[in-house]
Amino acid sequence: MDSKYRDRSVLIHGKFRSEKWDFEDHLTPPITTSVTFRLRSAERGAQAFQQFANPDLDRDTLHPIYIYERLDDPCQGLLEETLAFAEKGETAISFATGMAAISAVLGTHLKSGDHIVSHKTIYGCTYGLITTWLSRFGITHTFADFLDIEQIKAAIKPETRVVYFETPCNPTMELIDICAVVDVVRRINESRSEEERIVTIVDNTFATPFCQRPLSCGIDFVVHSLTKNLCGFGTTMGGAVIGPRSMETNLLLFRKDFGGSISPRAAWEILTYGLPTLALRVERQQQSAARIAEFLNLHHKVKLVRYPGLDSFPQVELAKSQMRDIDGNFAPGSMVYFEVKGEGEDALQRARKVIDYLAENALSVTLAVSLGNIRTLVEHPASMTHAVVPPEAQLEAGIAPGGIRLSVGIEDVRDILSDLERALESA
Ligand SMILES: *Cc1c(COP(=O)(O)O)cnc(C)c1O
Repeated sequence: MDSKYRDRSVLIHGKFRSEKWDFEDHLTPPITTSVTFRLRSAERGAQAFQQFANPDLDRDTLHPIYIYERLDDPCQGLLEETLAFAEKGETAISFATGMAAISAVLGTHLKSGDHIVSHKTIYGCTYGLITTWLSRFGITHTFADFLDIEQIKAAIKPETRVVYFETPCNPTMELIDICAVVDVVRRINESRSEEERIVTIVDNTFATPFCQRPLSCGIDFVVHSLTKNLCGFGTTMGGAVIGPRSMETNLLLFRKDFGGSISPRAAWEILTYGLPTLALRVERQQQSAARIAEFLNLHHKVKLVRYPGLDSFPQVELAKSQMRDIDGNFAPGSMVYFEVKGEGEDALQRARKVIDYLAENALSVTLAVSLGNIRTLVEHPASMTHAVVPPEAQLEAGIAPGGIRLSVGIEDVRDILSDLERALESA
């Protein structure tokens, strides 16, 4: 797509001439409000059905004949084009939520008897999807520690079809070496037939395509919760799968039949507000996150800070090679994890005090789940987002009772720092 223009410009304008653009003289696309579309003639109606999800046709150059909103609509199409560009993928398929996208990418690749290997620390609902629902369909799983490449090799079985992970991990900010995982899977695939091939999938929600583009490393599919930084304002939900053109038909048919299509209103918001401001927002969040991480690192009530931009970050070399923004600069992102001092119950009570102080007194930091918002959000993973993970598994995953997760927003960083300072002093 329009490779002579840089990412910042294309994220605002999309493609110069898009076949999905159905609105003659509009500068921004209107939100389409029609669920069904006029088909003009029996012949054109038949053509519309013949074109939908047809692997022999190129969605990039074909003007779609819209049929029914669950199948496709102009706002959704424009969003998909720009998302594919942002992740440097061949095609993007949008969904109603991040979980609908993850269900689709797993649902189109796995069948009864297949096996999935996943990193042990993943988003809670993805964990639930794999352990509760996929297992009911006879799809088995192994959770391994992807920081140790040997564990991935050991977990892969003849029936393994998917290798799945997130990086940075939520909430601990551990990084997985994307290229190293690709390399292991590529070697195993060399001796496998096309049907037995393992695909690699990365959930890139934490980093966003601004900070890291896993497809460039050879990953097969990227999934996103568009609800987070790609929307950016916390006003709508969405999801996407970005990957090779060869899987487009299956993903479109899965979406049509399972029904997790994004609404035109949601697609429009992400297209109109989210993507055009992504670079601005993440740059600002990242600048503030770096200052906040440094401040916390020196604070006498803080035991440790995990932020890929800190010199003390255990995987700083990997961070520097893997997390690069659209201009090639180091891009450690907007998420920070830290632990207050103390052990066990004592640390838990202190973390609660810090969070309660913020909830009651702080304008610039809000107690709320979700992330990638223009507002700075704080939460306590051990008792909130990761409460479903049993205590022993939490400790093993590095989720401490005194751990706090921050998603840094675009407020004045001096205000965030003073709110955090007062909250820490109160504990
Ligand atoms: C939020 C999130 C999801 C799920 O996305 P929804 O849009 O809430 O369905 C998946 N993965 C990660 C890493 C997330 O943060």
